[in-house]
Amino acid sequence: MTLYAHIVLPLAQPSFTFSAEGELANHLREGQAVVVQLGARKIYTGIVWAITSERPPFRTKQIQRILYPEPLLSAEQRRLWEWIADYYMCTVGEVMRAALPSKMKPSGMSDEEFEQDEFRVAHERTVSLREELRSQEALNEWFERLARRAPKQYEALLEVADRLTDTDFGGEVRTRSLRADAAALKALADKGLVEFHEREREAAFCSEELSDELPTLSEAQAKALRSIEELHSSKRCVLLHGVTGSGKTEIYIHLIHKALCDGGDVVMLVPEIALTEQLIARLRCYFGDRVVAYHSKLTDTRRTDIYLRLLHSAAGRLIVGTRSALLLPLAHPRLIVVDEEHDASYKQNDPAPRYNARDTAVVAASMYDARVVMGSATPSIESFMNAYRGKYGYVSLTERYGGAQMPRIIISDTLRAAKRGERYSHFNKALLDRIGEVLERGEQAMLFQNRRGFSPYVECTECGRVVECPHCNVSLTYHRPNTLRCHYCGHSQPLPEHCPSCRVADVTLRGFGTEKVEEELTQIFPKARIDRLDRDSATSQRAYNEIIRRFESGTTDLLVGTQMITKGFDFSRVSLVGILNADNLLNYPDFRSSERAFQLITQVAGRAGRRQTAGEVVVQTSQPLHPVIRQAAEGDYLSMVNMQLREREAFHYPPYAHLISLTMRHRDPQLLRAAARQLGVALREVFGQRVLGPQSPPVDRIGGVYILGFLLKIENSLSFTHARNLLREQIEAIRQNRDWNSIVISCDVDPQ
Ligand code: ADP
Ligand code: ZN
Repeated sequence: MTLYAHIVLPLAQPSFTFSAEGELANHLREGQAVVVQLGARKIYTGIVWAITSERPPFRTKQIQRILYPEPLLSAEQRRLWEWIADYYMCTVGEVMRAALPSKMKPSGMSDEEFEQDEFRVAHERTVSLREELRSQEALNEWFERLARRAPKQYEALLEVADRLTDTDFGGEVRTRSLRADAAALKALADKGLVEFHEREREAAFCSEELSDELPTLSEAQAKALRSIEELHSSKRCVLLHGVTGSGKTEIYIHLIHKALCDGGDVVMLVPEIALTEQLIARLRCYFGDRVVAYHSKLTDTRRTDIYLRLLHSAAGRLIVGTRSALLLPLAHPRLIVVDEEHDASYKQNDPAPRYNARDTAVVAASMYDARVVMGSATPSIESFMNAYRGKYGYVSLTERYGGAQMPRIIISDTLRAAKRGERYSHFNKALLDRIGEVLERGEQAMLFQNRRGFSPYVECTECGRVVECPHCNVSLTYHRPNTLRCHYCGHSQPLPEHCPSCRVADVTLRGFGTEKVEEELTQIFPKARIDRLDRDSATSQRAYNEIIRRFESGTTDLLVGTQMITKGFDFSRVSLVGILNADNLLNYPDFRSSERAFQLITQVAGRAGRRQTAGEVVVQTSQPLHPVIRQAAEGDYLSMVNMQLREREAFHYPPYAHLISLTMRHRDPQLLRAAARQLGVALREVFGQRVLGPQSPPVDRIGGVYILGFLLKIENSLSFTHARNLLREQIEAIRQNRDWNSIVISCDVDPQ
């Protein structure tokens, strides 16, 4: 018998049809991963989407083999992928790219490599401590010896020992679960300190008994928990609006415990891996081995291992992770928690699928018949509106846990300070005085500046030209000691001595980033211990953890940082937070800039005074009367929302309309413009005034590729599904044009 299968490949193309005969046909099942050959040589892993016995009207190639006997996707997961592809206007193959770790979809492997693939073999390597080392004294001796001479081996031994403390140093750890690299472990083995073993690989996660010890909730928390549970009987999703420090996590813990006890799985989404470390430690206290962390910083091997093990595991897992964790295979999902739901990083911007994991969570929950809790101190206006309209349930927590005070927000006018001679470098006296006091009292402060680097741009003193990236239409940022770097394409070059444009004058550094703030603080407070947290200093998870650890333990007094410091941390000694320049939050050209500024100020402020002492927050701005600054200072979320809603209604923005941003890219600007003009005419015929563009985005050339775009606003009274279909037809028409088919067209639905 011959069967035909529609196979989804990880490509921006619809599915392909392949055939299967004999044994292979007998074992073929929907959701399976199979190996197929495309064209003359290319080997791909694909997913069997549908099987039919109907012969298609064209010649088909044979499926080469079945990769894993059991399906990788459940029927619900396949429906979810289809929904994502349809809603976010991409192919199911592109969803596959995001959903499966790349080791699971190998392409271009030889047969031999394939047979040796570690996920095909049922063995894995573990490491244990040698007998003689199984005591703290013996270990300490070696720690001391290694610490100075072989820091890598020291770290590796420390990690292994750390993982074995529960077993009196007697157990084994899987080498793959260690952060230590193979070379360091081998060196330890050569010294006779550790031993390797080959073990049969565990196919599934096992489940520890759940402990009944949960955090005792305050009265307000207990009430919120009850409300959420009640609302869940009639609403798929509940929005938990709780001020910073109100203990939303403790409420999640109770909900998670309940779902796990009922034999379900739970997914807890967090915006960034940065946050997970502190959170995971906290969750492990309650849920032990049931906690599975999943995010992009894990190695691909580790992610593949998790995916395959989940496939074999019974329900009862708590997955904590970033957006793609939502796409993991779960036996019986019962609850999805979306923490900090307002966070823009839930949306994948590039490449496709450009999905929003927060919104997708609600759809996934309806497919799995699970419940959703979204939590935030500053809910997105969209989610708040969903609650207001009754689509979501709504529960609020207005007080901090343990009677801690909300921080006091002080608005400090930079222009006024400058006039009075009370401004030094980039600090107003109001902020400097307070930093001084904090240091005196032995407390800590966090200082926020949303630009990294030293100077965001470099300008000619004569002609005023700003030095730009040769590949992108964007200014270069100065980093110490002497480099200019492009934050878009990564290009870097030394700081030019003369202006590259007029060649007569010197260039000068303008504006200020985190590096500069750090340097100025060092000059003003030479005795203070200062650290910086941004993408340049936190180059790895390890570097990141180290910066956090130093701050947490009080080794550093002041922490300067970008967005990275704003999220979810809980440091008890922070009594002051400074926002160095709120202006660049307000002046950002985006319809969400006010909402974002409010969220950011509130979140950064929320890091202050999380214990008994009320914290203070100094917001430096030249627009002290700006409504958003006032609303944030007063913690007046509702006024902010009301004001924004009025604007958005008037200009047809979400939540009153859906937006689709369409982008066209090509190296040839002429060709691009011609195609865009044509598409513009066609779109206007269909959508009329709802089309804006073609227009150049703020950065209209990246890495030598030109960009033009359109924005579509589809008001809520229209069918959004219909609108997307019409748009697809227009894009298809452009793609059919031979001259233009090299133009890359992409759509971003509900752009952030
Ligand atoms: P949120 O996420 O709402 O900003 P957190 O969950 O971080 O707040 O809680 C703030 C602090 O209060 C944390 O240190 C947390 O451990 C503590 N906390 C909150 N609720 C409880 C509770 N019920 N029992 C003990 N500690 C709690
Ligand atoms: Zn560049």
